[in-house]
Amino acid sequence: MSYITLSRENFFYNLDKIAKQTKSVDKIALVLKDNAYGHGICEMASLAKEYGVTKAVVRSNNEAKKVEEFFEYVLVLADIPQEKSPKVRYTINDISAIKKFPKDTLVELKVNTGMNRNGISMDEVQSVIELIQEQGLKLEAIFTHHGCADELNGVYELQKSNFLEVKKSSPKGLRFHSCNSAALFRESDFSEDMARVGIAAYGCMELPREISLEEFKPVLSLYAQKISSQVVKKGEYIGYGATLEVCDECLVSNYDIGYGDGFFRANSNVYETPEGVKIAGRVSMDNSSFLSNEEELLLFNDASKVAEVVGTISYEVLTSLKAYIKRQIV
Ligand SMILES: *Cc1c(COP(=O)(O)O)cnc(C)c1O
Repeated sequence: MSYITLSRENFFYNLDKIAKQTKSVDKIALVLKDNAYGHGICEMASLAKEYGVTKAVVRSNNEAKKVEEFFEYVLVLADIPQEKSPKVRYTINDISAIKKFPKDTLVELKVNTGMNRNGISMDEVQSVIELIQEQGLKLEAIFTHHGCADELNGVYELQKSNFLEVKKSSPKGLRFHSCNSAALFRESDFSEDMARVGIAAYGCMELPREISLEEFKPVLSLYAQKISSQVVKKGEYIGYGATLEVCDECLVSNYDIGYGDGFFRANSNVYETPEGVKIAGRVSMDNSSFLSNEEELLLFNDASKVAEVVGTISYEVLTSLKAYIKRQIV
């Protein structure tokens, strides 16, 4: 069966760099949403704990339950509390959420500073804080999210100055955070209470050179195993749609990974593995053919490279990998 390896060494290397930037391991909130960007939520949570990370960010209650035992603090980005937990904090993304949260829930308020996705508007902060108090919720932090931390279009600076305004006019005693990976590495003197770091920890952050030259090491590698081999003669075709006509007799093997597992069909006929093995024909649902006779193939060890081939971002390559693929820490 195809499988995934997770490099402890590379993950810790990335965390070392991140901790240097946040100036404290305690300020790293590792983003573990979407099965830890496809890496495996429990595997990455246990590695993070081993490193000394104490905070995590997830999307849902379901994910929070899985990682609670590993951390002191868990922030849920978009769900309604089901049961009480002293560790879990819930995000208020909209005024309408306040009434849905039970009394005494620990909450963090998301403010829209210019991305215009989630969060209350800046001029409603004071009145929403009052509503939160009336509902008996415990507000601990105010945060925002950058839409352009990895772009040089001026929006990052605008959001940053907007958030500064929010901080200035907010009551004392609250915590503040705004940085994802890209924003964190844009800061020359990080001083917020924590940073919500995902892609940098997984080693697939790509930033314009003007923003950062920091290099990270990809944590995840994907391997596939051979199911069968064929000798294909000159003039014959390989795979669905007969999109590859063979010029010279060749040995082609079929491996147990396909778009159903998260290996994109857009790799068809164009992909080449890090070891220079060429794909042959179209990627099927559970199979892909390569010009190789190896029992096992390393499909990729850097999601950014696959992203480049198929025209997407490493986040999508990683989160597409199905949870049933076996993950192994190496
Ligand atoms: C996903 C997410 C992050 C992490 O972003 P990276 O670019 O992977 O570091 C941080 N904050 C919020 C609100 C997110 O949704």
